[in-house]
Amino acid sequence: MQAVPSRISLEGIVKTFGGFRANDDVSIHVAEGSIHAILGENGAGKSTLMNIIYGLYQPDAGRILSRGREVKISNPRQAMALGIGMVHQHFKQVDTMTVTENVVLGLPGRPVLNLAQDRKRIIDLAQELGFDIDPDQPMWSLPIGMQQRVEILKLLYRQADLLILDEPTSVLTPSEIKPFFNLLSRLRSSGRTIVLITHKLDEVMEMADRVTVMRLGRVVANIEASETNSRELARLMVGRDVIFD
Ligand code: ADP
Ligand code: MG
Repeated sequence: MQAVPSRISLEGIVKTFGGFRANDDVSIHVAEGSIHAILGENGAGKSTLMNIIYGLYQPDAGRILSRGREVKISNPRQAMALGIGMVHQHFKQVDTMTVTENVVLGLPGRPVLNLAQDRKRIIDLAQELGFDIDPDQPMWSLPIGMQQRVEILKLLYRQADLLILDEPTSVLTPSEIKPFFNLLSRLRSSGRTIVLITHKLDEVMEMADRVTVMRLGRVVANIEASETNSRELARLMVGRDVIFD
């Protein structure tokens, strides 16, 4: 038995494209309320795995358990119903619409008519997470870091408590990274669970509680971040010793 309950568990996930195994017997347990990094080089199979959790791909084999209960996730709507949300590397926003309109867009049974209540809820939600947002700004006018926050608000607005972030810092400017890490900390202290997909060692060392290292579609390590270091992670990720400058 694990000490901390698992928010999401993958057991023996296999996903092939043609004859190619993008995920090869992948097992991962993500603890409730943690920041869990999935570290791996380009092509390691990270996005494929997350697309499976989010219902965009169906695995060829393996099980998914949400809070210990086996689930079948056939599409993103089912993922969202289980509280699972994902921010892709490329956002899916409507630039000409406002923050509020983007957050509300696509909510089931919600025509975009009276947004006064939504505006207030969005301001409050952002405030809870430690930042200010103008709900009436059009998306195109916002810096990319703020657009990313809107993506996260969108998921929280739909009651997601497990946030899968695919290479979230790759779109940020250097000055946006620290505030982004602060936001991740706030999300964790509010009890949410974060899966942070990345190929950056320093991010893992700075933010993650636990890290799964993937290489060529396989899990090569599942370790506490406090029990490893950049050199070991680099070796695991690349498969050989790496010389640091
Ligand atoms: P990562 O996110 O770690 O960079 P991906 O999961 O995107 O890795 O890709 C893992 C491997 O699977 C890559 O070799 C990629 O080319 C392949 N792959 C991913 N998606 C598809 C697809 N839809 N069709 C064919 N091959 C794919
Ligand atoms: Mg990827």
